[in-house]
Amino acid sequence: MKRRKFLKKSSLSTAGIMATPIIASCKDNTKTDKIATMQEAIKPIVICTWNFANASAKAWQVLDSGGSALDAIEQGVMVEENDVDNQTVGTGGRPDRDGNVTLDACIMDKDANCGSVLAMQNIANPISVARKVMEKTPHIFLAGKGAEQFAYEQGFKKVNLLTEKSKQEWLEWKKKSQYETPINIENHDTIGMLAIDKNGAIAGGCTTSGMAYKLAGRVGDSPIIGAGLFVDNEVGGATATGVGEEVVRTVGSFLIVELMRQGKSPQEACEEGVKRIMAKNKDRKDFQIGFIAINKNGETGGYCIHPGFTYREYSQKGHENKLVESFYKKS
Ligand code: ASP
Repeated sequence: MKRRKFLKKSSLSTAGIMATPIIASCKDNTKTDKIATMQEAIKPIVICTWNFANASAKAWQVLDSGGSALDAIEQGVMVEENDVDNQTVGTGGRPDRDGNVTLDACIMDKDANCGSVLAMQNIANPISVARKVMEKTPHIFLAGKGAEQFAYEQGFKKVNLLTEKSKQEWLEWKKKSQYETPINIENHDTIGMLAIDKNGAIAGGCTTSGMAYKLAGRVGDSPIIGAGLFVDNEVGGATATGVGEEVVRTVGSFLIVELMRQGKSPQEACEEGVKRIMAKNKDRKDFQIGFIAINKNGETGGYCIHPGFTYREYSQKGHENKLVESFYKKS
């Protein structure tokens, strides 16, 4: 289903926007200890980029039954990795221009442990391999063949990630071979997820097949700690979707967490993150980026360049798809 149609059919709420004054009421806090103590934290809670209701529901199920934020992240984003209809994550993802599906993913826990795989082929669940890199090796990043080899050693099976649908679309694309970054279509359905468990531990994960028809070997922001994802248990976490090169240039997720450390609410920090990107891309309208963030208190926010980006939030308060405000009001 095309993203635009998908968004239309979704039950959008503007709760994120309506909640802004409440979230913004934290803006006078200049110290993280104030963030942590000013009200009872909302936990457990999970948020993820886009309207991935099944992924956030799975993560919530883990959190609600007392599971850790890290388990919730892994199991939550795996729902999208396994969904062959999602053509930007995991199996079924669109290939690079040579027809190979290469996957990027990273995961980060409350103690700043992290693991990441880059441009890995033939393995269905890169988030789980990233977790293994974190837990079983002294390294953070494993790329390409090395990541794939490590996955086999850890018991992962070789699978074909290229579905017939993605293959046919790629063959069609090859006729013109035009590289575009269309706004708000399936090309930007990377899932980034942030969770706080009942113990207050924060974790995050991000997984993608990257830009459709990218050059072989291209890696975006999603598996780069600090760019596509960052978590600091004293402050909160942030994650991104969209044109990864621009997120990397501002180290977007790290920036947002640092802005929250300085006292900004998640909403304000995401807005500032997008504004920093736009300051380097004056008048450029041809790309989309969406950030989401959560602070230690369980307050959340999101902001994007073009209208249409949403994020899922699941807590005791309910399960919502939140439409976020955008830098440009019309695409
Ligand atoms: N951020 C991803 C990348 O640049 C793609 C996306 O979210 O659309 O690889």
